[in-house]
This record gives sequence, structure tokens and C-alpha cells, in this order.
Amino acid sequence: MSDQLVIKDVTVKFDNVTAIKNICFSLEKGEIGCLLGPSGCGKTTLLRAISGFEPIQAGLISLDNEEISTTSFLKPPEKRKVGMVFQDFALFPHLNVEANVEFGLANLSPKTKIKKIKEMLSLVGLEKISKRYPHELSGGQQQRVALARALAPEPSIILLDEPFSNLDTELRSQLAFEVRDLLKKRQVTALLVTHDQDEAFAISDKIVLLNDGKIEQLDTPYQIYHKPNSLFAADFIGKGTIINVGIDATGLLANNLGSLSLNSLPSDMGNSVKLLVRPDDIAFEESSETKLKIVSKSFLGPNYLYDLALEDGQTVPCLTHSHIDVDVGDDLPVKFDLRHVVIFNAN
Ligand code: ATP
Repeated sequence: MSDQLVIKDVTVKFDNVTAIKNICFSLEKGEIGCLLGPSGCGKTTLLRAISGFEPIQAGLISLDNEEISTTSFLKPPEKRKVGMVFQDFALFPHLNVEANVEFGLANLSPKTKIKKIKEMLSLVGLEKISKRYPHELSGGQQQRVALARALAPEPSIILLDEPFSNLDTELRSQLAFEVRDLLKKRQVTALLVTHDQDEAFAISDKIVLLNDGKIEQLDTPYQIYHKPNSLFAADFIGKGTIINVGIDATGLLANNLGSLSLNSLPSDMGNSVKLLVRPDDIAFEESSETKLKIVSKSFLGPNYLYDLALEDGQTVPCLTHSHIDVDVGDDLPVKFDLRHVVIFNAN
């Protein structure tokens, strides 16, 4: 399959700020990518560069094998086959649902237009409320109209900027699955910006983790969660704690919590390592002799997330069923499962 969107060595500068630096990645047709990273890392700038609102100072962007941004050429935004869905949905308040969807279809004959609007409304399940105005719709319905409007002109790529952040939590996750399903059904290439990692994991095939304008890791959601390739990625993605642990020549951890297989250790490692410990690496085990003091706990419905103190004062997270209800200050018997911990060189 050929790449539909290609971002090659792209740099965008604002006066003395370099917002993105030598970014390279591509998306195949039908692939869903997600830009993730801390505030100010360049997500919006990259989205704006792809949509043509921001010139680039180095590199090139191509869509469908056509160069749309270079250092000397900027195809106007309205001429790019790019659909946009914004955080606030940006629906026209004076137009009803079908007129909102019709908006991007000016070049079609009236007959084709009607057919297309019907197809889009049926796709997002809004046929029955096509005459309603935006203020007569729920947040989720408005979001679907925005998606139908963006998809109607059959763009080569759809850019979604925090598309679910104005919706409540339950609706967000439901819509995230629906949107993925819908994009996949029509093999639409998409790039999403979100602050919500669960959303990014649920929707995307590929995550572009940005840090200070550069790509820190480009990977599948699974790989980026389980195999972060830097301390930044380990710290930023998912829940977990990075601890420093002394280690002997056999791989035994100084805090007595187990031993690491020697072939999993970096070859240039000294006598200590940094371990990324996820909440599911430590399990409650009633008969265990290893007991750690509970520093804090949070109730998550089906689970408790405990924070447990090691002898040296560092803390580690532990996820249990919520019927394991032990008080803060008491000890919790636990077992470390070190098979999946991620190990970094301490230096
Ligand atoms: P957030 O998650 O907070 O929305 P972001 O990852 O989308 O952040 P950008 O908005 O792309 O980050 O900003 C990247 C960097 O570029 C920041 O340092 C920001 O201050 C700077 N920046 C963005 N737009 C401009 C501008 N028009 N003029 C000057 N600097 C800008």
C-alpha cells in the first residue's frame, strides 16, 4: 500500500521559536495516526501545517503523491483535500443538519448532492434528525454532524483536533470506538490530536509521540505502552513509576523484590538500573511474605490503585480488585511480576 500523507523533515518556526523540528512520518491510505505529547510540543502546529494554514521552513508535505507544502510553495488550504473536525465542532448555527453537511459540496449537481447528504447522514446515524438545528442537538450528535460534514467532500485525509474533549467521559469512549469504526469502514486516512491517551490507544493504528517539537517515538499503541524507548516515553505514556534499583551480578534486585533475567539487561549496565513499574506488574498475593506499606489509595470502581512504599522510600503502584480494601498505613502482601517491566540504563 502506498503512503497517502508524507511528512518529510518538516520544520516550522515562529520568529525565534522552532515549534517542530525535522519531523518525518507517513500514513498509508486508511491508517489512523495520533499526535500525542505534552502541551506546547507542536501538535497543533503540525496539524495546521498539513491543512495549509502554516508555512514550513524546511522539508516537504505531500498528500496523494502531490507536494502540498514545500519551503517555496504552499497549496491554499481550500484547495487541499483535507477535512477538519474541531474541538468545538464549528457547526453553522443558522443551518440545519443537512445544510451543514451540504456546505462542502458546492461543486456537485443538486441530485448528487442530495444523494451524498443522505449517504453521510445514514453513515453517522442522523437521518431522522436532518432538519434540526445545532442547538437542538446533543454534544454527541453535533460531533457526528461535524464528522459527516468533513467526510462528505471525500477528503484524502481527515484531521481531528481534540474532537471529543467537549463531551463527557462515557460518551467520549463510546464515540471514539464509533469514529474508528466509521473511518475504517470507509478506509479514510486520519490524523488526530488528543490529550487523552485512552482515546489515542482506542482509535489509532500509529502514535506519533512528540516532545519539544521532535518525534520521541513512532509506534503502535501496544508498542509505545509496553516498549517505550526512552525515559520520556515511559514517563509520559500510561500509568507507572520509574524507580532506581541496585542490582547484583546475577540480576537480583537490591530491594529483594525479585531478579531480572540477565539477557533482558542492557550490556553496558552498571550495578543499578531504572525500572518502569506499571500498576499491573505488582499483584496482591495474600500468602506473600513481601509486604509493602500503603501510602495512598484511589478507588476506581472495579479496582483500587494503591501506592506502596519500598524500603528506600520510593513508591510503586499496584492495581487490585476493589474488594481488596486495605487501609492507608497498613501493609499489603504483594508479588512482583518482573517479566514485563521495562529496564533502562541508570546512567
Ligand atoms: P497544546 O497541547 O497546549 O495545544 P501543542 O502541542 O498543540 O500544545 P503548539 O500549539 O503547536 O503546541 O505550539 C508549539 C510551540 O510553538 C509552543 O512553544 C508555542 O508557544 C509556539 N507557537 C505556536 N503558535 C505560535 C505562534 N503563532 N507564534 C509564536 N509561537 C507559537
